[in-house]
Order: sequence, then C-alpha cells, then structure tokens
Amino acid sequence: MPKLGNYVSGNWITGDGEGQPLYNAINGDPIAHASTKGIDFASLLDYGRKVGNPALRKMTFPERGRMLRALALYLKEPARLEKFYQVSTFTGATRVDSWIDLEGGIGNLFSYASLRRKLPNETFCLDGEGLPLGKAGTFMGQHILVPKEGVAIHINAFNFPVWGMLEKIAVNLLAGVPAVVKPATVTSYLTEAVVREIIASGILPDGALQLVCGSAGDLLDHVTAQDTVTFTGSATTGLLLKSHPRILGENTSFTMEADSLNCLVLGEDVDPSMPEWDLFIKELRKEMTVKAGQKCTAVRRIFVPENKMEDTWKALTKALSQTLIGNPANEKVRMGPLAGGAQREEVRAQVRKLLTSSQILYGSPDSVEVIDADAVKGAFLSPLLLMNEKPFDHEEPHTVEAFGPVSTLMPYKGAEEAIALANKGKGSLCSSIVTADPAIARKYVLGAATHHGRILILNNECAKESTGHGSPLPLLVHGGPGRAGGGEEMGGLRGVKHYMQRVAIQGSPSMITALTNSYQPHARQTVEDKHPFRKYFEELTVGDTVITHKRTVTEADIVNFGNLSWDHFYAHTDHTSLEGTLFEKPVAHGYFILSAAAGLFVDPGKGPVLLNYGLEECRFLKPVYAGTTIGVKLTCKEKVEQEKKEEKDLPRGIVKWYVDVYDDTGESVAVATILTMVQKRSTIKI
Ligand code: NAP
Repeated sequence: MPKLGNYVSGNWITGDGEGQPLYNAINGDPIAHASTKGIDFASLLDYGRKVGNPALRKMTFPERGRMLRALALYLKEPARLEKFYQVSTFTGATRVDSWIDLEGGIGNLFSYASLRRKLPNETFCLDGEGLPLGKAGTFMGQHILVPKEGVAIHINAFNFPVWGMLEKIAVNLLAGVPAVVKPATVTSYLTEAVVREIIASGILPDGALQLVCGSAGDLLDHVTAQDTVTFTGSATTGLLLKSHPRILGENTSFTMEADSLNCLVLGEDVDPSMPEWDLFIKELRKEMTVKAGQKCTAVRRIFVPENKMEDTWKALTKALSQTLIGNPANEKVRMGPLAGGAQREEVRAQVRKLLTSSQILYGSPDSVEVIDADAVKGAFLSPLLLMNEKPFDHEEPHTVEAFGPVSTLMPYKGAEEAIALANKGKGSLCSSIVTADPAIARKYVLGAATHHGRILILNNECAKESTGHGSPLPLLVHGGPGRAGGGEEMGGLRGVKHYMQRVAIQGSPSMITALTNSYQPHARQTVEDKHPFRKYFEELTVGDTVITHKRTVTEADIVNFGNLSWDHFYAHTDHTSLEGTLFEKPVAHGYFILSAAAGLFVDPGKGPVLLNYGLEECRFLKPVYAGTTIGVKLTCKEKVEQEKKEEKDLPRGIVKWYVDVYDDTGESVAVATILTMVQKRSTIKI
C-alpha cells in the first residue's frame, strides 16, 4: 500500500510506522496510508519562516500575482487536470463535485492573481488614506501593511481537499507569506497529488509551501506571534485548537470556519405559479445533493411560510427522488457517496439527534438505492429531508449539523419570524432568500445581516447568472460570525490583509512620501526644467512637479463651456436664481476648472504620455467666479506597472498625478488624481 508523502523542509518524506489507512469512498478499498510520525514540526515551521518567508516577502505584489497566475495555468493543463479528476473520484465526488473542488480552487488562484492590479509595485501596501495630524501640514500619519514574518498554517476539513487548500494559499502567497498545509487526513491523498505537481512545477520559491498528510502532531506547540493559523472543520476541534496554550500564550492569529447551520428562506410572495418557486426547489435539491451535502455552506435549514409547507415537501420530494445516487463513474449519477464510512456514521449519529424533535419526510438513514456500487461497502447515504413543525420550541435543527445530504424543513409566520429563525443558527456562513419583492428582501437582509457572512437574494432576474447559495467567491467574504467561527478567509483584499501586519507610521509628508513612494499633500515637490510629461515611465520620480502659468477665468469661459457641454445648470447661467444658494455669482463649471487645469498642465507635443487613462478622485473645494485667476501644481503621485496584454503592446505604465488647482489667494479650488498611460524608455529604438 503506498504511503503518502509529506513535503517538509524542501524534501518529500514519508512518516514512520504504518500510518492511517485511507479508503476509496465508492467501494471501501484501501488506497494509501498517511503518517506524519517522526516529522520535526519545529524545524518544518522554521524552514517556512527562514527560507520561504524571505523569498516571498522580497517579491512585489505584481510578482506574487504573476506567480499565482502561472501556477493556475500550470495546474489547469488538461492532462494534469484530468489526473486530478481521476484521483478525486476516490473521494466519492461526481464530475461536478470535482469541478468545484479542482477548477473552483484553481479559479481562486486566478482571482487572487488578478488582485495584483489593485496593489502597488511594492512588497508592502498602504492601508487607507494619509491623515494630516497638524495644521501646518508638516506632520501626518499613514497606515501600511507588511507581510508577517511567519508562516500561514492551514488546518483544513476533508470535504474540499484541493479548493480548501488553494482558497487559502492564494491569499497568503499574495500577501507574501509561506504556507504549511495540513489537509484532513481522510482525503489528503488528493491534496498530495496536487501538491506534488505544484512542487514539481518549480513555480513557487523554496519553502513557500509545505504539506503534512496525517496527524498534526505537535505542530501547534511551535507557533509564534508572527504565524497565522486558519482552521476549517468542526466547532469542537476548532475550539480545542483555538484554546491551545501556545496559541493563547503567543497571541497567534487564529481564524476558524466551523459548523454552520445555513438556511434558505422562501419569501412570502412566492407561490408555485412563479418562476421563483422552481428556482427555490432547484436550489434546495442542489444544496442537498452536490458533494452529497458535504459543503460548509450547504442549506441545513429551510424556512417557508406555513401555508407553503405541503407544496414544498411535495415538490422537493419529487426532485430528490429523481436524483440518481451511485458510482460517479456512471454518467447518470448525480450524487456520490460521502467521503468515508466514518463520515457516514457521524452523519447518522447527528441525524439521530435531529430526529428527537423532527420527522423524516424523505429518505432513510439506513438504506439507499444505488447504481453501479455497493451501498454498504461504499459510504452511500440517501438524501434526508426532515420536518420540524415547531422550530421555536426545538434547538436541534438550529444547533445540530449533519454534514451530509440532510436538511430540515420548518414553517414561519411573517418576516419577523423568518429573521428570528435564521438568526437562531447563532451565526452562519450564508443564507439565501428567494423572493421577487424588494421590500421583503430588504427587511430580511437588514434583519439577518448581523448573523451571516453572505446573503444571496435569488429571483428570476439574477437566476441565470447567479453563482448559487453554496458557492463562496474569492472576492467576497467567506466566513461568518459566531458559530461559523468568525473567519474571513477570502474576501479579496480583506483576506490578504489577514496575513499582514498593519502599522501606523507618523512623520512629515516628505518622509512618508519617500518611504511609501506615494505622494502625500504638503510633501516636497521637485520642479525641474524638463516637463514631467516629457519623461518616460522609468525616468519619473514620485514628487516630480510642474507649476503652471496662470489663467483668469472669464464670464465668456463660463458661457462658452455651457454651450459646448450643454450644461446649462442655473448656477452657471442664471444671475437671478442665486438667492438662497451657496453662490454669489454664476459659478464656473467644476469640469471647466478641471479642463482648464489640463490646458495649463499638459505639455502638448508628442511624447511619452500615450493617453489620458481616467480620473480617480476629484473634489471641487471652492466656487470659482469670473475674474478669478487659477494656477495648477501637477505632481507625480504614484507609478503603477502595467503588464503587456499582447506581445505587440508598447511597454508602459500608469502614472497617477496629484492635481492641485489654486486661486489668486493660494487656496485650493479643486483637487484631483488623474491617470495617464506613459511609455517606457525601453521601447525606444536608438
Ligand atoms: P474536523 O474533524 O474538525 O477536522 C478538521 C481538521 O482538523 C482536519 O484537518 C483534522 O485532521 C484536524 N484536526 C483534528 N484534530 C486536531 C488536533 N487535535 N490538532 C490539530 N489538528 C486537528 O472536521 P472534518 O470532519 O474534517 O470536517 C467536517 C466539519 O468541517 C463539518 O463540521 C463542517 O461544518 C466543517 N466545515 C466548515 C467549513 C467552513 O468553511 N465553515 C468548511 C468545510 C467544513 P485529521 O483529519 O487528521 O483528524
């Protein structure tokens, strides 16, 4: 029997002893052993900190992002992917289930790779705006985020052996922190197969990813304050690990994604004649049967208006009876077995607890009809639809999670009850409401938001494109309050910040500008003879400034701009309408001031500036009347690398410019950040 490899300190090693046997979920055949016995967990963590961490933290965000993209493309190569699909069948997954785990996970790498465009060409990033801290403009504060010096330790659940790993490492790698992955042992053979390819690709720097398949041993005894532990699994294990003395003693960041009693609510407006009804039933069937219900986000509680109970169970029973269960190798099969016999026993035990206050409407915990498989040898279980008619009187449906194809149907009366029931889950990853009525949706969302990490409002308008109740998305928060663990694993840049240390830096604007390479108002400006528009991307330095000549705004300017733009708003055109307004006289259009500013700061000749790319922030601070003289200071604020999309594209970058338009008193009348695309010198043929 093969023994799974552990990738530790740059080597593939197998643990001592026989290890834990792992089985094929479809027929119970043993497939491998897993052991971590003999692994020196202290030096494993040290290797991550001393080898992986420095290599990643010296890379810039764009470099880390491109690394993730390269990895995603590598794993997605058809022959390689197909190999993963083959291994994935041992977990009992259908092709669709495997797609979620494999391609969903790879999709996460792509999404996080794309986030590099929202991050600077630096190894660290700013967090929020600079804050002026003195009246004279010589002292300010700015938060920055730097990668922590430790490792990210991911202790994962068994249900998504690949997605569970990739959803997390995508985030810590973009942040510049290496990972140690400990998948749940029962399905770790699939994680191992993928990690073998990742390591073989050579795309990640040494030490960026280590893997242990089997017991976590004394891993947590060696964590430090610079490490981050993320846990996905049951609340019981989560609590045990969260209260580990070393984690408490070192104040190691620990996040948890645990049991979640997610719910789906049928809006009071929906009846069986509406398209939303079919969506509701379809979504429920999907939630109960995809991955055989072994999804952290799966719907465990179904709330319907009491007069729709019968219609619901009839329709859902019909839909479930049409779901073929069996060996996923058979194309007709829509639901495979659970991940293993132990998992099936665990679900049955939880169902017994649920049945103390609920009754079965569909299915049996003890028997199930399957195709091309042996229902007993394989970890097969029938979908189980339960009903609890008094959901306010019983706690089990809101506290007992059966991690399989099990959901409980419950009635409610009125929106307040639906909200109260949803919130009885004491914090869930996600909830959905199916409704076509915005008033119902608003009431539900605002009432249930405190207890959920994500809420889907499903109706006919969004159904075609909807990613569904159960799909966490890389750029949206995945995690939930309370019982769900309080984690926020993905969520786009929110997730990245989790692996970084936030520090408030204070000093003069010039000092903060020099440190961050991002121009801060009141910082020193460099004025040279050469106009910054005549400089190539590489030649520009943050702080390069042009102070323009001046222009007096005239009544004719205001009238002409109104005619040109067709903006005849009364404040620009009608002297008689200004009483009681903020204006004493017809005021110049804000967009005219900005256009006039461009007229002043632009260097008109053909040069490295290729085009105007847009505007990020703009404020009109003071009215400009005819007779006011304006001038502009244009300062290079930030330089953003831009990758070529096609080989023939000109190498270029985006330059952000701080535009300060001031009047004859020296006060700013408008400020803006404008963006230009600037050519790189490397393109010039000499
Ligand atoms: P589990 O038994 O709690 O195990 C989770 C992970 O913790 C596994 O890797 C497990 O390793 C490890 N572990 C267990 N005891 C440990 C210890 N003393 N020290 C260090 N690590 C330890 O959960 P599971 O059965 O794999 O997953 C099912 C549960 O996960 C369900 O309750 C489900 O709700 C939850 N889940 C939640 C989410 C979410 O996002 N909220 C996602 C998926 C699953 P071994 O496998 O080696 O024991």
